[in-house]
Amino acid sequence: MSRGLRENHSTEERLALVRRRVNAAAERAGRDPATVNLVAVSKTKTADDIRPVLHAGQRLFGENRMQEAAEKWPLLRRSHADISLHLIGPLQTNKAAAAVALFDAIETLDREKLARLLAVEMARQNKRIACFIQVNTGAEPQKAGVAPGAADSFIALCRGELDLPIVGLMCIPPVNADPRPHFDLLAGIARRNDLAGLSMGMSNDFEVAIRQGATHVRVGAAIFGERAAPAGG
Ligand SMILES: *Cc1c(COP(=O)(O)O)cnc(C)c1O
Repeated sequence: MSRGLRENHSTEERLALVRRRVNAAAERAGRDPATVNLVAVSKTKTADDIRPVLHAGQRLFGENRMQEAAEKWPLLRRSHADISLHLIGPLQTNKAAAAVALFDAIETLDREKLARLLAVEMARQNKRIACFIQVNTGAEPQKAGVAPGAADSFIALCRGELDLPIVGLMCIPPVNADPRPHFDLLAGIARRNDLAGLSMGMSNDFEVAIRQGATHVRVGAAIFGERAAPAGG
């Protein structure tokens, strides 16, 4: 099967192909395709790049930078009230309030100070948004995420004392590594903590992730085309 990444394909064609591949991967895994959510990662793309994807029916998007998301999405939301926007990049504590206001989910909760601030902000804004806890499955020093060995206690703190709406876990495996052990590790932590959500898998490995239980795959380049410059994550 063609991987559909040729530059002469339109964004609509690439989106349709990714959707077909998501559905096929779910069916091969004996899963209901409706249990796999496609997060279209629109970082570095303009509102004009995003509109065709909206018109094709996609409503779930991921952005990795607060500032960029704040510039693009309020206007796009005016024409499509049912958009759901996930933060998939690192969140600084001084942006916690803005993140709660702008996003529908935060996939990168990874430390206590941030968890406490998010709890305060959700109460203050009377807006509870879904959180995924990011796990640094490769224990990479430069990468965000709670260490695998600290995940259980961090999950317990977030759900217990802080009463945050924790819906699942998220990981970004090391580049150029086989992602399967990382997806397995994440799925195991989720299972023993009774967490249903698993955000894992990107353009190069989303089918593998679906086979290993992903409920959210974050796909950028395979939908929007390659990004010009390194996009910081
Ligand atoms: C950029 C990014 C993606 C999408 O990566 P592609 O290879 O373009 O599909 C997924 N997750 C995170 C956290 C990202 O920063």
